[in-house]
Amino acid sequence: MKPGLYPLLGPPASGKTRLALAHALEVLRGRGRVWWVGLPHQRPYVLELFGREGAFLGLEYLSFQALYYRVLAEAGRLGPLLPGAGRVALVGEALRGLYGPGVAPGEARLFARAIAELKRFGLSPFALPKDGEAGRLRRVYLAYERLKRGSLDYDDFRRYAQRAPLRLFPKPHLVVVDGLREVGPLDLAFLRRLAREVPVLLALEVLPPGLEPWETLSPRPLKREVLRLANPVEEARHLLRALKRALAPKDLGGEGLAPEEVLVVAPEERIGGLLLLKEEYGLPLEDGRERALADTEDGEKVLALLSPFPTGRDLLALGFSALGRRALRLGLAGEEALKALAQREGLQAEWEAFSTLRTPGPDPLAWAEEALERLGVSAKEPFLSRLRLALRVGGGAPLAWWRSFLLDEALPPGVGRGVPVLPPLRATGVRARRAYVLDWVAGRYTLGEGEDYFLLEELRERGLLARLPRRLRGLDPLFWEEVATRGEEVYLLYPEAGPSGLYPPMEAGKRPDPLPPASRLEALPHAPFRPPWPRAGGGLPSVEALRRLLECPFRVYLERFFPREAEEDGALGWDALAREGNGLLDHPEVGPWLERHQAHLEGMRFFVVWERQGYRLCLDGVRREGKAVHLYRLLSAGAAPEWDARKRWTEWKAMEELLEGRFTSKVEEVHLWAWPWLGEPVPYRKCPFRRGERLGPLEVIRPRLEEALALWREGVLSSRPGGHCHACTFQDVCRKEGE
Ligand code: SF4
Repeated sequence: MKPGLYPLLGPPASGKTRLALAHALEVLRGRGRVWWVGLPHQRPYVLELFGREGAFLGLEYLSFQALYYRVLAEAGRLGPLLPGAGRVALVGEALRGLYGPGVAPGEARLFARAIAELKRFGLSPFALPKDGEAGRLRRVYLAYERLKRGSLDYDDFRRYAQRAPLRLFPKPHLVVVDGLREVGPLDLAFLRRLAREVPVLLALEVLPPGLEPWETLSPRPLKREVLRLANPVEEARHLLRALKRALAPKDLGGEGLAPEEVLVVAPEERIGGLLLLKEEYGLPLEDGRERALADTEDGEKVLALLSPFPTGRDLLALGFSALGRRALRLGLAGEEALKALAQREGLQAEWEAFSTLRTPGPDPLAWAEEALERLGVSAKEPFLSRLRLALRVGGGAPLAWWRSFLLDEALPPGVGRGVPVLPPLRATGVRARRAYVLDWVAGRYTLGEGEDYFLLEELRERGLLARLPRRLRGLDPLFWEEVATRGEEVYLLYPEAGPSGLYPPMEAGKRPDPLPPASRLEALPHAPFRPPWPRAGGGLPSVEALRRLLECPFRVYLERFFPREAEEDGALGWDALAREGNGLLDHPEVGPWLERHQAHLEGMRFFVVWERQGYRLCLDGVRREGKAVHLYRLLSAGAAPEWDARKRWTEWKAMEELLEGRFTSKVEEVHLWAWPWLGEPVPYRKCPFRRGERLGPLEVIRPRLEEALALWREGVLSSRPGGHCHACTFQDVCRKEGE
């Protein structure tokens, strides 16, 4: 090929890469040199394509960034590099200088992204209007450029490379640019310059305006199936079974594909769940998401250290296991809650060590270095370099900025070792023999086109800003086409419905044939172990336990072990009085109250138990006065009594016993009281209940008590889910046990 620009136009999967590969191989076989320019995540794929054709010398894979870097290096015009986090830090500093402290990392990132776009399209701050948010961007852009001084950000490399002399050594015989969705005007201008000296093959799906194609390719027919599954769980299980079968050797009934011949595309939020299942299915799935420093093992520890609301999980990550486990069990988060927990559990030493570790000293860098040492982080420099940037911008509160830099800046992609599970944008420019696409439903795969915050669409039509691309270009259909053509065989899976209702598919599919089980759990017989329900033991149940038995027998069983939690309105304070009696007279608050109520307390028996046929009556307080009996419902301070026959049986049953003369000594009348702790006793009604009187609530209680006794005699304390579960203190333990 002679020097020149050879634009190659074709839709996704039309064979652009194959054609470029053929030209590159021809050059390589003639001992020529090829530079292949693409995105960093496409490198392993391209090298693998070449690897299948044999071993070659003379091939170099570069990103545009690396290409510009090389041009400037050859021309001797390199400057200190300002990486992405440094750029955000400088923008933060510019914002602070212009608008005062209180700049958040997210705000700085928003400005940094807008500045990067302007620079990518060769626009200076003076191209921006002076008013409104665009004017604010203009001022920040100017201040950023001033602060940057001699260092070069990624877009400066692009800009300077336009003017640098092209002294390429060693000179390539072919430059291929492939795998990009579009090239900007500066990149195109540079390629045109380069094309004066070497042939440049530029493969694109959409050519920039004014560029005529050298060759146009048509789409190739691919094998494509759309499969519908009932819900996302079924969909994921089907995918994993299909992958297992695809990778299994042929003599075991599989298809014998190699891991690099298969790829999976899934929305980013579903990838974590799939990876969790890889152990169960024994699949070599590989996380294809972009990773930040915070996603590494060391990064997770540093993130736990910097957490603004530390949780039990953070404590565990940092090695404070006793406090961490307790906090996790109780679901506690935040310094105050953890401190209180440590005090309650006697773990102050652990809490102190944790607080000391996460509190920066007067020299934050020295503190961070020591903390990283304590956390066992071996490669400290990447963390410290970001802290230096955070100290520059963060003023008095650099930790939030440090955290942000660890979370945001992407690491270079790793080399694939298994079946990649890729988010949609990472799947561009990468293909395999077989591709599975998950969640093929409307709205899931999108480029998220929308108005820009600073430069609205109409601004992008005016003056120099017309160089910027429009934000609303309707490129989604092309993107769908790209996602749906990532393999020679493509399986597009979608769930018919999920937690939020029906999902409209991108295209209707058929229900797949069931696949054989692919994990040990699936292959085992489908009879999960279910522990038997507990049985009612010996002894008499209280009448209240029988009442609650009708709602949920299993809860009654659990309440045996947690009696305090089971109390609906326990008489807190009264038990102390029952224990200590007049010993509380000296208490400054209780003493005067006791003296005031001597008439009621005189002869009172606390927490009396009457054993009856089949049940017990546990009365809070009983006092006898001649032929009158006083029954007391003792409540915690400020509580209101519950007398409804559907919610309280004890006192009504006791009254029945007393008034029907089932005791040896004759009782003529019964007084019913409710008495909150440190409050006044309140009678149920003014006149007492008299012998022979009909008690209405018993009409409700009697049949229900018979029913409850029959249930108790049956003995199985199984769960009975219902509306009462909302007020159950056992946090669905019955359901968890059953899973
Ligand atoms: S959650 Fe419902 S079914 Fe489970 S123990 Fe509590 S009340 Fe019973």
